[in-house]
Amino acid sequence: MITIKTKDEIEKIRAAGAISAELFDYMKQYIQEGITTLELDKIAEDFILKHGAKPSFKNYEGFPGSICASINEEIIHGIPSKRKLKNGDIFTIDVGVLLHGFISDSARTYPVGKISDAHKKLLERTEAMLYKAIMQVAPNNTINDVGGVIEDMARKYGYGLVYDYCGHGVGYKNHEDPQISNFRCKDGRKKLRAGMVIAIEPMINLGKDGDITLDDGWTVVTPDYKYSCHWENTVAVTEDGFDILTIHPGTQDELLEKFKKYK
Ligand code: MG
Ligand code: MG
Repeated sequence: MITIKTKDEIEKIRAAGAISAELFDYMKQYIQEGITTLELDKIAEDFILKHGAKPSFKNYEGFPGSICASINEEIIHGIPSKRKLKNGDIFTIDVGVLLHGFISDSARTYPVGKISDAHKKLLERTEAMLYKAIMQVAPNNTINDVGGVIEDMARKYGYGLVYDYCGHGVGYKNHEDPQISNFRCKDGRKKLRAGMVIAIEPMINLGKDGDITLDDGWTVVTPDYKYSCHWENTVAVTEDGFDILTIHPGTQDELLEKFKKYK
């Protein structure tokens, strides 16, 4: 069931999302060669708790971490572990923040030390796909208008798509209807309506389309072990467009300006 949030509820999701935006900045100093993803998970959890919130992924369907910690070929749902970051890695933090009963969901991919030019481009373009997709959010536009931007940009750059995982409604729960796929599909013909709150999350593979889930039941990797990048924001559909809830409040215009030039 698709839910419509009130303005007051959207402000509550923004308050959770503002903590995630702070967290993503705070984590930068720790994302360095030699640190384990378990150590990063603890640092992130402490930060969230200190801000009076809770990590909403922890114990969700049995997931053990406070963050999803995905390195290189890991697309999503990496379990925090003793694996150490290395120079040249790319590393994704995906995090749900629960504050006063409302949840925001967002993800960022970071470079570790010096990364290759191909990986730099993958990071920059995936972030651009997220913002270009967000620019399609408005009442009466369809979910396919959003996902179609990601599909077209990925194809233009020769990147692979992930079909088994997608964005979603969010706010009361970690995952709500509708699904927001990163490509055009039958279910994507539904229209967006003011008051919907959705997580838009391009997961883009440097190589082939597709994904494989490892035996741990969680970690999703690329089929060819080439690297994958993931960016996500929680976005409210407003009367005349959209409002991004998981960035620093007041920075939306400047972010959109930065990514307008991408096609
Ligand atoms: Mg997420
Ligand atoms: Mg999500």
